[in-house]
Amino acid sequence: MERINVWTQYDEKQLTQLENLNQEYRKFLDQGKTERECVQYIVAAAKEKGYQDLNEIIEKGQSIQKGDKVYAVNMKKNVALFHIGEMPLEAGMHILGAHVDSPRIDIKQNPLYEDGGFAYLDTHYYGGIKKYQWVTIPLAIHGVVVKKDGTVKDIVIGEDETDPVFCITDLLMHLSQEQMLKKANKVVEGEALDILFGSKPLDKDTKEPVKAFVLELLKKKYDIEEEDFVSAELEVVPAGKAREAGLDNSMIIAYGQDDRVCSFTSLIATLELSEVHKTACCFLVDKEEIGSVGATGMRSKFFENCVAEIIDRMGDYSELTLKRCLANSKMLSCDVGAAFDPLYASAYEKKNTAYFGKGLVFKKFTGSKGKSGCNDANAEYLGELRRIMDENKVTYQTAELGKVDEGGGGTIAYILSLYGMQVVDCGVAVLNMHAPWEITSKADIYESKRGYAAFLQRT
Ligand code: MN
Ligand code: MN
Repeated sequence: MERINVWTQYDEKQLTQLENLNQEYRKFLDQGKTERECVQYIVAAAKEKGYQDLNEIIEKGQSIQKGDKVYAVNMKKNVALFHIGEMPLEAGMHILGAHVDSPRIDIKQNPLYEDGGFAYLDTHYYGGIKKYQWVTIPLAIHGVVVKKDGTVKDIVIGEDETDPVFCITDLLMHLSQEQMLKKANKVVEGEALDILFGSKPLDKDTKEPVKAFVLELLKKKYDIEEEDFVSAELEVVPAGKAREAGLDNSMIIAYGQDDRVCSFTSLIATLELSEVHKTACCFLVDKEEIGSVGATGMRSKFFENCVAEIIDRMGDYSELTLKRCLANSKMLSCDVGAAFDPLYASAYEKKNTAYFGKGLVFKKFTGSKGKSGCNDANAEYLGELRRIMDENKVTYQTAELGKVDEGGGGTIAYILSLYGMQVVDCGVAVLNMHAPWEITSKADIYESKRGYAAFLQRT
């Protein structure tokens, strides 16, 4: 099966749309480097398009009608958008699901210490990372510190040109004879991923003077005390903005594209809808990278509860209606795929691999080895999606994540499929997945947005 490179197919108008979409995408990436920041961006964008807060609707005892647009936020880290369609909810929804969390390094609860004249913050990494990739690069700290009285302080240090940045050090080459013999998973170990936080003593008499000085600065600049780290969520991410890559400006290099690339394209496809036949839903979750656990992960009851509340506000609630709504729904689990990398060709099976410029990637099989953890989408559903993509001239390809015995990965697909709905994984191909800087193709981003829109608009 030969697939075309979609760059060769575009006319001027499409190229302009593609560039505009990618410019917006870069803004989204720059403003959304944590799940909380992404949710803030998404809610603001949804409100601008007339979306109303589900909680407010419930509090005011208002009803929800066909054509209404509703959003719901879960603990500031997970958000659902619903655009109510012409058909009753019992007929099911068209759902786009993606995740807004990305691999990163989190600050521990008791992080601050001094050693060798430096102040450090101790960390615990989040998600699957190659630890050696996170040393010797400029890092920023994003997150919140919650005081005992409930005040929430938003923190972003390292993104403004005038901000300082942070770094995790590595052993100099000259003394690395022993380190260089270690296996890659041992070269830099988890406990060595501590953030270099300061080096200037407060004065000559104080005990641990460097730590004392950073504590003084934390108090002065942010009103934070050492105890406040206990109730903080501080995420260390690569500092800097999303950029175009390649002499031909055909790619995007940025932190967190798994899975903000699918979150963004799902969001835009949803916000651009005019009227919908079946209710359209865009569900953006947290915690995918650590197994979809917790109150803000896909396994939480939040999504089901939102749907129940909406059915109730439409005056038709029963457990059976809810069950039918979920079972009759169809979903695209929008998550990134591994792009073919010719420099590591042996990890891939060339016929069933995603290529840059060949469009939205559909993945019938995920999981690892003998499809363990796989949702294994139905052939009937894939047949239907082929028709929708072809009718809307969306360029797509099919792929698996590398060779069958090589490894693998999971998504949120299997969790929604528990309701008995049709679910398939599809998304944008990524190079360097889970590295501090990941690379995507601008054409694939454009095709994915078009594919998601076609899916939501179908009758
Ligand atoms: Mn992902
Ligand atoms: Mn991932």
